[in-house]
Amino acid sequence: MAVLRPLPPPAPGDLPRGFPTRQALGQKLRELFPAAEGELSEIRGGRKAAELALTRLDPSRYRRSRNFLDGAVTGLSPYVRHGVLGLAELKRLVLGRVRDWNEAEKLISELGWRDYWQRVWLQQGDAIWSELEPLKTGHPPDSYGTELPRDLAEGRTGLACIDGFQQQLLSSGWLHNHGRLWLAAYLVHWRRLRWQLGARWFLQHLLDGDPASNNLSWQWVASSFSQKPYIFNRENLERYARDRYCRSCASANSCPFEGSYESLQAQLFEPLAAAPDPPSQAQAKAPTKLKPVAPPQRPVLWIHGEGLGPANPAWAAAAKVPALFVFDRCRIAADGTSLKRLGFCYECLLEVPVVLRLGDPLEELLAFVERCGADGVIAQRPTDPHLGAIATALAEKLPLQLLEPEAFVALESDPQLQRFNRYWRQAEALLRQEAPG
Ligand SMILES: Cc1cc2nc3c(=O)[nH]c(=O)nc-3n(C[C@H](O)[C@H](O)[C@H](O)COP(=O)(O)OP(=O)(O)OC[C@H]3O[C@@H](n4cnc5c(N)ncnc54)[C@H](O)[C@@H]3O)c2cc1C
Repeated sequence: MAVLRPLPPPAPGDLPRGFPTRQALGQKLRELFPAAEGELSEIRGGRKAAELALTRLDPSRYRRSRNFLDGAVTGLSPYVRHGVLGLAELKRLVLGRVRDWNEAEKLISELGWRDYWQRVWLQQGDAIWSELEPLKTGHPPDSYGTELPRDLAEGRTGLACIDGFQQQLLSSGWLHNHGRLWLAAYLVHWRRLRWQLGARWFLQHLLDGDPASNNLSWQWVASSFSQKPYIFNRENLERYARDRYCRSCASANSCPFEGSYESLQAQLFEPLAAAPDPPSQAQAKAPTKLKPVAPPQRPVLWIHGEGLGPANPAWAAAAKVPALFVFDRCRIAADGTSLKRLGFCYECLLEVPVVLRLGDPLEELLAFVERCGADGVIAQRPTDPHLGAIATALAEKLPLQLLEPEAFVALESDPQLQRFNRYWRQAEALLRQEAPG
């Protein structure tokens, strides 16, 4: 795939596709995105890096140690998020390394969480930026702060764990799931800040930053997409962080996380007037669905952020066709995307034969179609509603064929998505049949 596909002759405004060093890539990114914060992460983008991480995949050790900060987690989320590694492909790899379903179940169910959040996003669209259900904390929504305090944003809270997570988020762009949970719970419940602040902050920095997994996890912590708020205590942190932070913490004798769950809940929350109603099946918003069109005869490919690697079905659908990726100038500025996120994506893109541009995606796509003498566009069906809006606008101008990414699990057409366990009951029954043993 990568070798045969032609790149059209370079045109003014194409971004470079080769750098003598990683430092030179960083330098170029600083020129292109002067407002982007930070430096490149030590985590590299691209399929080669993903394959290296895959050599460490060990479902059995994962099952035993996933909750520990030094456990055998995969570190694959940035590659999965960008379609460098498909979720269905990863599932097959996991099932290929186990003797039976029991050994695989823990890791497969975590992949299921990603699939679940993506389905909820497709159903809810931008509504995932608002509370999907009332908070169960007893506090009115407008009592939560709307600005990220400087001590938290700058890692100067004086709490070794929280400052450690902030530091890791900003430098590497990856955090263990438990670190994310603890940091999110601290921000929402101890500091009483709106979860959306934290969600935006994470999306600026996480290499796997994905509004579905991110916002819905924040809502799960906040309690607007769960039955009760998530909190932790010092004992829990010391167990799973193995005392990495508490020993050196200047606040060890005045730790806000010290205490039983009952006493912390009493400190942090007000009693609820009534028990929360069980969630009903959410009303589906209309995801991007275009009228079926005849495939273009001379297409170009539109590569977007959900399909930067081989998991994108567009590569296989149209071999030897020029491809374009556009860094969306306005969106990057509006989101405050950090340099490490941009660098990760750029590195993924350097491994696939694609023309790189910076600007407005719709304008750039139309210009690319003309430049290549093409008559239409093929792309992976986006989940992100912003990409969906670009697709809709594009389809008004020329034939656009959207291809479904390979499904992680083929559920019935209207699956139950109120809570993960309802989704998982349906998904597990099907996934189990694919396991050996
Ligand atoms: C507040 C908060 C924000 C989060 N934001 C994101 C985000 O923006 N992008 C993102 O991909 N994940 C997010 N997660 C989910 C999870 O923390 C990460 O996917 C996981 O920690 C990534 O590390 P890993 O690849 O080693 O995961 P592993 O534990 O090795 O799991 C393997 C894969 O399963 C998927 N996965 C595992 N756990 C989850 C989960 N809880 N939810 C969804 N998918 C999961 C990921 O694709 C991951 O790569 C968030 C969690 C929380 C609590």
